Amino acid sequence: MIQKPDGVVSGETMSARAGDAPAASPGRAGRSLFLSGKPPMPKMRRKADLPTRICTVCKRPFAWRRKWARDWQSVKFCSERCRGDGRRAARQEG
Ligand SMILES: [Zn+2]
Repeated sequence: MIQKPDGVVSGETMSARAGDAPAASPGRAGRSLFLSGKPPMPKMRRKADLPTRICTVCKRPFAWRRKWARDWQSVKFCSERCRGDGRRAARQEG
């Protein structure tokens, strides 16, 4: 129930408006969502969300991987190969 401060209840105008567009606007709004093509919330996780790190051997950035979930903080190399190279280099240095 909508009451105006004047004390005048605008029943006439309301009914006139309702008859103007019978339930067309809500239906259109719901449909436009589907017409946009893509769903509003994609389930895919974006790559940008993953943490990245610079490989200490090849100096290239690499992204977090599931196999590193346990010891991501100790991961320094992008691949097994770089890990081997890094260890070898470290040994030769000393
Ligand atoms: Zn690397």
